Amino acid sequence: MTMLQEAPLAAAVGPAVFKDRFGRPFTYLRISVTDACNLRCVYCMPENAEFLPGGAHLTDDELALVVESAADCGVRKVRLSGGEPLLRRGIGGLVERLAGIRGIRELALTTNGTRLAGFARRLAKAGLQRVNVSMDTLDEDKFRRITHNGTLEHVWAGIAAAEEAGLRPLKINVVLMKGLNEDEVEAFAALTLVRNLQVRFIELMPLGEAKDCTLAGGSFGYVSNESVWQRLVARFGTLRPAPESGTAKVYCVPGARGTIGFISAMSAPFCERCDRLRLTADGKLRACLLEGGEFDARALLRTGLPREGKRELLHQAFKSVADRKPEVHAGWRDLPGASMVRIGG
Ligand code: SAM
Ligand code: SF4
Repeated sequence: MTMLQEAPLAAAVGPAVFKDRFGRPFTYLRISVTDACNLRCVYCMPENAEFLPGGAHLTDDELALVVESAADCGVRKVRLSGGEPLLRRGIGGLVERLAGIRGIRELALTTNGTRLAGFARRLAKAGLQRVNVSMDTLDEDKFRRITHNGTLEHVWAGIAAAEEAGLRPLKINVVLMKGLNEDEVEAFAALTLVRNLQVRFIELMPLGEAKDCTLAGGSFGYVSNESVWQRLVARFGTLRPAPESGTAKVYCVPGARGTIGFISAMSAPFCERCDRLRLTADGKLRACLLEGGEFDARALLRTGLPREGKRELLHQAFKSVADRKPEVHAGWRDLPGASMVRIGG
């Protein structure tokens, strides 16, 4: 992986200028607040996963400075992810701190939902606006198999608590795999008939435990969103286009209360409209899930420079990292060491 701190940083940029060499503006920062997780989804983490030592993670103060600097550069939306963000100690305080940063208009979080019931109200009060909940099956036994002992009932309780706390519109992330949960496409879509939420089909990517999968079908059998689309049209008739949401193409079944999103990173890359930068669990800035090129923000944050000096150097680092973002990612291939939980899914 290229360490950008070894290269000269780009010339200083004014706060309002935050476009890469292809003219893409960057308004969205995703942060992995911990690489740890209480589940072991088969495609994401090995059962014997090892996690970063405590001191490797950025502190709340350090995260706040990165987000302040990102906001100076035009970032308006922040999403906390992981690993499982609700495992981070003091997550409520962190949410409150980030929500109060000038310029940040949207603060969201992606969670496996297992601990959400106990956190939803507190997080909403602290300033969190939305949650995405990952739930790859509607079947309790299968959930246990996919996650290695998770309890689906806890996730449903989390979803109910989030809706109750006003964390809406709620989105459900579903990664489909051949022979595992592919048969549930229609059942997931049918949820949108009766509930005002967005079910999002996310194509499997060659990261974490899925790194060896190939389009031809690896251990977990990649399912293309084109095939999902065809099944849904066969089952429900026409799908009506709805406004796009970030990287998702969104549709709805006529008369449905909710919507269906397709995130087709592998079969139909959306790189030209990708507005994201990332901060990994060990404090590296990165522009793309599937392409390396990182800047060690943690090393910068832990120098003896004054706060304002760090903030300015971070502006330059954001610009440099953004400029390393390829026009389009290079697709399925081996990405040694690339882990979804470190980069933040
Ligand atoms: N633990 C939280 C959760 O599961 O929502 C947040 C982190 S998780 C890495 C974020 C999202 O990434 C989840 O929706 C998960 O299904 C997805 N994900 C993990 N590994 C993936 C892979 N190899 N390909 C596609 N999506 C993946
Ligand atoms: Fe944990 Fe989320 Fe990865 Fe599942 S997908 S193992 S819940 S980080």
